[in-house]
Amino acid sequence: MTFSHKHLLGIEHLHPRDITAILDLADEYVDLNRRAEKHADALRGLTQVNMFFENSTRTQASFELAGKRLGADVMNMAMQASSIKKGETLIDTAMTLNAMHPDLLVVRHPHSGAVDLLAQKVNCAVLNAGDGRHEHPTQALLDALTIRRAKGRLHRLNIAICGDIAHSRVARSNLILLGKMENRIRLIGPPTLMPSQISEFGVEVYDDMREGLQDVDVVMMLRLQKERMDGGFIPSEREYYHRYGLDAEKLALAKPDAIVMHPGPMNRGVEIDGTIADDINRSVIQEQVEMGVAVRMAAMDLLARALKAQRLAEAG
Ligand code: ASP
Repeated sequence: MTFSHKHLLGIEHLHPRDITAILDLADEYVDLNRRAEKHADALRGLTQVNMFFENSTRTQASFELAGKRLGADVMNMAMQASSIKKGETLIDTAMTLNAMHPDLLVVRHPHSGAVDLLAQKVNCAVLNAGDGRHEHPTQALLDALTIRRAKGRLHRLNIAICGDIAHSRVARSNLILLGKMENRIRLIGPPTLMPSQISEFGVEVYDDMREGLQDVDVVMMLRLQKERMDGGFIPSEREYYHRYGLDAEKLALAKPDAIVMHPGPMNRGVEIDGTIADDINRSVIQEQVEMGVAVRMAAMDLLARALKAQRLAEAG
């Protein structure tokens, strides 16, 4: 299995065969994670630092667990409370950390492009855990693994991504990944929550959810990202739920075996009805969380192999 990338900054840099390599290895880690004894040693001796400049519950926990299961020394930096508040620049923070010789740096940042910038300044592998509205590559990979396991394939599926597309890095990374794997993608949401250059992505756009959901295999719901909105994007949450919230009536328009996804955290009763989210026959939301740990183990394992090969070449 070869993986020639130094960092995992976005899906846009990956070839379909890279995506398949990560998912294949992640499948093996799903098996490991289901055993009573969950340890492997792919990252033994390596130091993983998690730098989250934006709040996160599941992504940070998932990366932490992934690193620990593979034997890394994992350190979480609480960036909200630390030097960033004292005015240190992102680059100074990165240089300081770099001097401590981490091997894997997992970064979440509220600004698009910040993680790419940081990756240019350090000499370890950098994983983007979400930057602004730009990318969230491990989310798209875990979504892809969830779809591949539920549907038995990751191509030629009709996939609807619904809701707040404009503010969503999850939507952007998924759009790129699912497009690369040759699926038909429909974006559904109000025009105010649709990015302006969306036609460039070669997708179908719907503002009527009932029309957009017809016969799809996968319904991916997105959180209404209120923290990224600065104006009146929606009339009211009640109205939004009525038009774009996933309920049983709207879901009935999709294929009878369509799966329901959500990256979390969920606004129940805003973008999704709680009963649908909890319906184990339709919803794969818990599987997404499970796949998240396995995908992050796979991504860090492959980056660590590339890092070790590079160091060996430099030493030789
Ligand atoms: N957890 C995802 C993210 O970090 C989705 C969300 O916050 O709505 O982008």
